[in-house]
Formats: sequence, structure tokens, C-alpha cells
Amino acid sequence: MGKLIARFEITVLIRRETLARTGQDAGTGKPAALLQATGLSRTYRLGAAAVPAVQDVSLSIEGGEFVALQGPSGSGKTTLLNLLGLLDRPDAGTVAIQGEDGESLTENAKSDLRRDRFGFVFQTFNLIPVLSAEENVAYPMVIAGVPDPERRQRAGELLRSVGLGDKAGVRPDLLSGGQRQRVAIARALANRPAIVFADEPTANLDSHTAEEILDLMRTINESSGVAFLFATHDPRVVARARRVILLRDGSVEKDAAS
Ligand code: ADP
Ligand code: MG
Repeated sequence: MGKLIARFEITVLIRRETLARTGQDAGTGKPAALLQATGLSRTYRLGAAAVPAVQDVSLSIEGGEFVALQGPSGSGKTTLLNLLGLLDRPDAGTVAIQGEDGESLTENAKSDLRRDRFGFVFQTFNLIPVLSAEENVAYPMVIAGVPDPERRQRAGELLRSVGLGDKAGVRPDLLSGGQRQRVAIARALANRPAIVFADEPTANLDSHTAEEILDLMRTINESSGVAFLFATHDPRVVARARRVILLRDGSVEKDAAS
């Protein structure tokens, strides 16, 4: 499928409606950052041992950004993504989402927020094996209560936009790794998130496929305005980011445009 068609379809599908949902910063009245982390720390306790996985991290992500979280294995990338995505709670510090403090939310409100404003993509794809590609993409819309005809139509359109229009009825085990990750990306976009968190999305792919997946993510980012934050230790993946946050031993060592 041509890139132009993909761009057009993605734009029509996702539009910029996600960007309209910005909160305001209470103090200044300016639009709040999409994500604002302040002084985040997280220490794992293993018996008597303490592992300080994330230490005093402050950063902000604006709507529409395309950011790599780079660092060697064990540097705290997954822990930080889990904190920013409200999947885990910090020992200290705060995460605000469009101006709303994550810690002030009940667990139900947090899970609603994750469902409505966040998409997640994982290293191991995490598709549901007994569901077809289309059913996997539709699944978050089932959770969100989107009625059936609309859900099915949107799932089909999303699959076409990631180049898998002909695989709607196929189960994940009959798809290649790259195809599975495309399904996972389509699924992450199902409820029109403001940001997609991707934890090592290309770690299980060969280098050519990894580059294709990154190009797809960037096309989606540029045409729809959905922000992406992806953890990686692959320099080729980092090269495609517009901003790189370098983590070392749980702290931000460098944060710069690339
Ligand atoms: P990365 O994703 O960059 O590889 P992680 O966030 O997974 O880094 O891990 C950061 C540090 O925290 C590492 O030292 C890791 O061993 C440790 N760690 C991660 N998860 C746990 C856990 N559930 N329990 C204990 N230690 C953990
Ligand atoms: Mg990790």
C-alpha cells in the first residue's frame, strides 16, 4: 500500500480530535503538558535489598511528540514507562496527565484514563491468540462500549491503515512478527489515544522490519498528531526519534532533540 494512502486514511481515522482534549494548567491558565513527571522515584524491594530503578526523574511530553527513551538494559526504561502510563505508582513524585494529577485518581478513574487516552504496545505484541486480527483491534472498543457496527468498521479501517487490510480474519499465530506488531499498533490506536507508550516495540523483529515499524509509527504520529514514547536500546530506532531521553541508572542523563 502506498504511503500517501496510508497517511490519508490515518488522518481521516484519527483526526486531530485527541489534541482538543487538553487540560489547562491550574496556575498559569496555559494548556498543560500532555504528560508532566516531577521528581519521580521508584524502588523495588527484594527482601532486604532495595533496587532504585527510577530516581528523581522530571520530564514533560507535549501532544504530538515522537520521543525515544534510550538506555541500556536495566536502566529503568520499563519502570519509567509503567509510571508514566499509570500502570505503577511512584514512591515519590507525581505524574500529571493534561494537568490532572495521576495520584488524585481512583483506580477506576485511572483505568478509564488509560483506556481513553493511552495506547500500549509491547515487545512481545501481547495479542489475544484466539481472536482474529480484527477482533484484537476491536477489543479495546468492546471495553469502551463502542457499538458493534462502528467497532467493526473502525477495526477494519485501522488494519488497512497499518497495511493489513487483507488479514482481518487471520489469527496472530499465522502472522509474522512485523505483522503482529502492526496489529498491536492498530489496537493501540483503537480508542483514539493522545499518546502511545511502546516498550521495546522492535526488540523481537529483524532490523529491516524494525525500521518499517518505526516508519509506520512516525507516519501515524505525523499525520494524526498522536504522541509516541518508545523505549529502546537500538540505535537505529533511536535515529528515527525527534527527541531522545537517555536514561542511565534510573536517572535522565540527557534529554535533547535529535
Ligand atoms: P529496562 O527496561 O531499562 O531494562 P527496568 O525498568 O526493567 O529497566 O529495570 C530497572 C531496574 O529495576 C533493574 O535493575 C531491574 O533489575 C530492576 N527491576 C525491574 N523490575 C523489577 C521487579 N519487578 N522487582 C525487582 N527489581 C526489578
Ligand atoms: Mg525494559
